[in-house]
Amino acid sequence: MTAEEKNKAALFLDLADDYLLDGYRRPRTRAVFEDSAAFPAPEKAAEPLAGNSRETPRGTGGQTQTQPAVAREERDGEASPGAGGDSLEKVAEEVRRCDACRLCETRTQGVPGEGAASPLVLVVGEAPGADEDASGRPFVGKAGQLLDRMLDSIGLSRRKNCFIANVVKCRPPQNRDPMPDELVFCSRFLKRQIEMLKPKVILCAGRISAQTMLRTTTGIGKLRGRFEPYPTEDSFDESGGSTPLLPTYHPSALLRDGSYKRPAWEDLKTLRAKLAELDDNYARETAGQ
Ligand code: SF4
Repeated sequence: MTAEEKNKAALFLDLADDYLLDGYRRPRTRAVFEDSAAFPAPEKAAEPLAGNSRETPRGTGGQTQTQPAVAREERDGEASPGAGGDSLEKVAEEVRRCDACRLCETRTQGVPGEGAASPLVLVVGEAPGADEDASGRPFVGKAGQLLDRMLDSIGLSRRKNCFIANVVKCRPPQNRDPMPDELVFCSRFLKRQIEMLKPKVILCAGRISAQTMLRTTTGIGKLRGRFEPYPTEDSFDESGGSTPLLPTYHPSALLRDGSYKRPAWEDLKTLRAKLAELDDNYARETAGQ
């Protein structure tokens, strides 16, 4: 049995165990089977951005660099590689090769995510749409352009201090909601990205993202605008093993219904205030905004 087959079997058994015994998905530490032949290390000279390769130090004062994230990890040790030498590039490569769920049959390509390797904010959306599926990059359509403007309004950008990803890495057909088993199969990638990125704050864009990460069925209208702790196995943050997670509306919801713009702006101000608490550089550079 290959490592990928073992991982699929372990994920399926975990899922069946949770739903049969408890009726919901429990937090758990999952065994990960490695097979270096199945997932060879990526080339060092990965293409810009496509392999999460834009990175800068945390905060807004650092100079933009364009080396792959893994290169900086080896160079100065500032970004911690995950357990067993994991890296953002490795996750990206595995996503591109992944056939763990049915979405691999209809996607053009997987969309791992991109942005700063040590971000202030990890933005987590739902799944790639048509533009993302075609380009291999997250949030590049109209909703993505709006997201970029929203982030820019509070001193954030994917090229400077944010990482952008989705809970599901391949486009669901006709942009349907991801199915529960697809969310389970794909969650291992986001979990590894979070462990390596160590964001100061996670911003969940939309219902699917917020409900999946908070393991709740509460609607986005009630979840938005309030920080919840996102438990992290490695206590890399300063709040005792959790990262503040803020749900807000998905930018596509704002494009569909303008009445969401005001609450979304309130959420952005809440995010800005939290980041100013957590990061002195950010607080200095956004003072007076
Ligand atoms: Fe693999 Fe996730 Fe794509 Fe499914 S959606 S094939 S689990 S990368």
